[in-house]
Amino acid sequence: MLMKIVQISGLRKNFGKIEAIRNIDLDIEQGEFFGLLGPNGAGKTTTINVLSTVLKPNAGEVKINGFDLLKNPFNCKQSIGIVPQELALYNELSAKENLLFWGGLYGITGIKARNRAEELLKIFELTDRGNSLIKTFSGGMKRRINIAAAMLHRPEILMMDEPTVGIDPQSRNQIYDVLSDFSKNGVTIIYTTHYMDEVEKICSRIGIIDHGEIIAKGTLEELRRITGSAETIVIHFERKNDQELQKMKNEFGELITVFDDKIIFSTDNVSRDLPMLIEKCAASCISLTHIALEQISLETVFLSLTGRKLRE
Ligand code: ATP
Repeated sequence: MLMKIVQISGLRKNFGKIEAIRNIDLDIEQGEFFGLLGPNGAGKTTTINVLSTVLKPNAGEVKINGFDLLKNPFNCKQSIGIVPQELALYNELSAKENLLFWGGLYGITGIKARNRAEELLKIFELTDRGNSLIKTFSGGMKRRINIAAAMLHRPEILMMDEPTVGIDPQSRNQIYDVLSDFSKNGVTIIYTTHYMDEVEKICSRIGIIDHGEIIAKGTLEELRRITGSAETIVIHFERKNDQELQKMKNEFGELITVFDDKIIFSTDNVSRDLPMLIEKCAASCISLTHIALEQISLETVFLSLTGRKLRE
């Protein structure tokens, strides 16, 4: 059986009257690529900050790599690499110097640190920029060095707080590839994001967090099953009739969601529901431009759990 490398029970964290984490129970197994998905203010950063010993919890128990977070913070810290939301790099130092600096903080120095820095520069395809100052790097390159810095001491667990915000798709894909390799090599990854497509693509298990609580967790397949539907029919329209759309919402309740220019309908029987919807739209003077069948997305899962869009 795989080891539970992160064990969280009854975790709470308040900021005055704000309950940033209300009650989190969560176990993460060694080698999992765990995505913590939630809207702004859900409690993702606070969770990462507590797990990485930056913040003290108000209640609860956390074990990291078998060590108790409050009784043995030093061993917990040594077990994790942290990639914070804000870049933690020195602009006036080169990429390599930044890596060596972070290694030094974890007691990795000398030839061992230099070799590891070279290895990480290669992994992140930045070998030829190792001696360039960070201030000359693009946002995506800085992000890659930031992750490399967190991996210098070969932690068992990598905790990342929205590491791909604001970077180009190419850098983002490169980061996914490297993380996937780390994960295959047994590194446990905890990854927070509000991008659903990221977790759908890269995470082996997902926790959906909202208002400081994990409201659902499981594999993508398990989460999709929460909605009780197999697929969604997505109908794009160009001319709408608000009154008629409202009537459809009243008729179908939570099966139907209307975004700006599309209707999303959850179904377990496409051949029954698709003709019915087309007929309804025609009768309601809603003129269709495009129809697609899609698998249930995490957006739909979030909506069915909370009644809200993930990015309101
Ligand atoms: P985001 O994606 O916007 O970073 P998040 O899911 O990471 O959101 P947190 O930053 O953990 O959410 O915030 C959770 C709640 O705690 C929010 O209501 C936030 O305003 C509050 N909060 C976070 N840090 C502090 C603080 N230092 N002082 C007071 N309130 C805080």
